[in-house]
Amino acid sequence: MFNKILIANRGEIACRVAATCKRLGIASVAVYSDADANAKHVAACDEAVHIGGPAAAQSYLRIERIIEAARATGAQAVHPGYGFLSENEDFAHACEAAGIVFIGPPVEAIAAMGSKAAAKALMHAAAVPLVPGYHGDDQDPQLLQREADEIGYPVLLKASAGGGGKGMRVVERSADFAAALLSCKREAASSFGNDRVLIEKYLTRPRHVEVQVFADQRGGAVYLFDRDCSVQRRHQKVLEEAPAPGLSAEVKRAMGESAVAAARAVNYVGAGTVEFIMTPTGEFYFMEMNTRLQVEHPVTEMVTGQDLVEWQLRVAAGEALPLTQQQLKLDGHAIEARIYAEHPARGFLPSTGTLKHLRMPEGVEFAIDAAGLGEPGRKAPVRIDSGVREGDAITPFYDPMIAKLIVYGATREEALARLARALHACEVVGPHTNVEFLQRIVTSEPFASGDLDTGLIERHHDALFAPAKKPFKEALALACAALLTREGGTAHGASPWDALSHWRLNSGYTQTLGWRMIDEAAQDASDAPFMVTFARNGQAQALVQTLEHDGVREDFTWSVGAGAHEFRATIGDARVTGRVFIDGDRFHVFCQGETLAFEWQNLLAHAADAEHGEGRLTAPMPGKVIAVLVEPGAVVEKGTPLIVMEAMKMEHTIGAPTAGTVAEVLYAVGDQVADGAQLLVLDVQQAGG
Ligand code: ADP
Ligand code: ADP
Ligand code: MG
Repeated sequence: MFNKILIANRGEIACRVAATCKRLGIASVAVYSDADANAKHVAACDEAVHIGGPAAAQSYLRIERIIEAARATGAQAVHPGYGFLSENEDFAHACEAAGIVFIGPPVEAIAAMGSKAAAKALMHAAAVPLVPGYHGDDQDPQLLQREADEIGYPVLLKASAGGGGKGMRVVERSADFAAALLSCKREAASSFGNDRVLIEKYLTRPRHVEVQVFADQRGGAVYLFDRDCSVQRRHQKVLEEAPAPGLSAEVKRAMGESAVAAARAVNYVGAGTVEFIMTPTGEFYFMEMNTRLQVEHPVTEMVTGQDLVEWQLRVAAGEALPLTQQQLKLDGHAIEARIYAEHPARGFLPSTGTLKHLRMPEGVEFAIDAAGLGEPGRKAPVRIDSGVREGDAITPFYDPMIAKLIVYGATREEALARLARALHACEVVGPHTNVEFLQRIVTSEPFASGDLDTGLIERHHDALFAPAKKPFKEALALACAALLTREGGTAHGASPWDALSHWRLNSGYTQTLGWRMIDEAAQDASDAPFMVTFARNGQAQALVQTLEHDGVREDFTWSVGAGAHEFRATIGDARVTGRVFIDGDRFHVFCQGETLAFEWQNLLAHAADAEHGEGRLTAPMPGKVIAVLVEPGAVVEKGTPLIVMEAMKMEHTIGAPTAGTVAEVLYAVGDQVADGAQLLVLDVQQAGG
């Protein structure tokens, strides 16, 4: 076995590999870009080498630089993770040439599977079933058109060198073929530097079912059962599970044996995944082989109790496979959800930013030791693989994955229920995430019943993207609780007069907090303000707290909960417990499995800004002009009061941000003004003196 290896990757997979190294007593070397100097994977390894700029091309894809780092640190082997250089035959070759073990298959096997078209020719020879299609060398557009017509529409065009769904085009009709071919070739050329294409019959309502295979250098080859990865967006996996539900033992064995045959056909060594596409009636066809560890390998680890990275290391060091096919046992069910920083409602565009608050459900990080993989009934029920910590940023340079949430259950139902609960406990403030979207899929009828196919998200689009019925008033009550607590209230429904003693009251008996709902998934923030009124109940000390939105008023009470950031509220008959994370004037409330954000319209702060000359000449909130104190032509000092507005029942004076001359007053007493509206024009050039 190796003493020291270099991990040529970043993020969760680098941390994942480091965890196995640590457990096996193997020293690990990280590499990192400028953007990752303080990254979690650097901390997870024993040593780290800086390899260049933030863009992958300047760092994680620099073959010579990485080989040099391995040499300099005395690493005997390199683990490439997934993505980046993991399926790059030049890299595998460069490692070999430098006398460093590449923890992956031989160069020839990568090359054979690197071209989807060439791989298909090999698979055909090995009697592995193929989707009807064309994968020939002749790329003449007219020939391709004829082949497509013959296969019958719809067909799928793929980049032969492709990956990550890039270049794929579904063509519905013969007339659309030529244009689709051009656009597929264009994307293939720019993404992979190779515009060769292949054509496949486009299957309708197929499932993506794949088989984990492993081979050693002594001729041993096994399959570690199957996974279903049908739930995809933009041809990219979102939820993966093992074993694939609803398949007969015969189909599973036939697929497993086909996958082993595929691996043997290319003299495969190490971990690989043979991806099949499956018809609703259970026929399966070879799609491609990924010659590396897969993102979703943890679900296989959970149901087999094996650490696949350990297997990779042992095989690369020349050892035999740890178990035979007969010794491998399947136990229970595991599901992985990929938590991404992205906007599902905006076509799944990546979202970036600092993870200001990050809380994952209770679980075991990289649960790959005996306690994690464990005996049946003693496994870690929730595993979390993540390459980021609170305070880290999701940058535009790399994959926007925040974490993989993996759950185990004795049955699929148990795993599913656990996943829904675990997703409820995920809290992320900063980038937008797909957590709520995942929740909806997981609790949707087709997913729950195992009715899986690759069109699931699209077909159920309306239900999956319907506006959420969010617990607005409950969340708002919790936000008020957090605000009043922060401002010095007590645990039992603090009086705002005590808590916010510095507030000026325009009435002795009522006080109002203004809130705006921030819906980051929607294109715009909701402008309908919520009002929370506190009123003294006659002479008694009892405090009535009222929420008002859309004309509906309800009284509520609140208290501080037991856990950190935890609050409780009662509104009418409804009781709610939730957690509130405060980011400046933004209050992120996590309750009933939903995330809501409100912005406190902190009028006092706005007024203070104006008084201190930092204010703009714009309305800090929607409201009414109740006094105009200057006329055009007036020469004003910094801080001179100009206009008084009233909003949320509070008066608020706008002062001059600087000395100048009033050029124009844009509103009159009684006018209603929108948030951010410019109120007057101040001419700074003509300031006297
Ligand atoms: P999987 O089937 O395991 O999801 P993919 O082919 O979709 O595999 O890619 C695996 C991971 O590698 C993804 O997270 C993807 O973002 C990343 N990836 C894919 N292609 C590249 C590439 N050319 N360079 C860097 N990362 C990549
Ligand atoms: P990539 O290298 O981008 O992962 P794949 O060939 O593995 O490309 O295909 C990615 C996804 O595209 C599959 O998981 C499946 O959802 C869909 N797909 C691929 N081939 C077909 C096909 N012939 N018919 C229907 N869908 C397909
Ligand atoms: Mg694929």
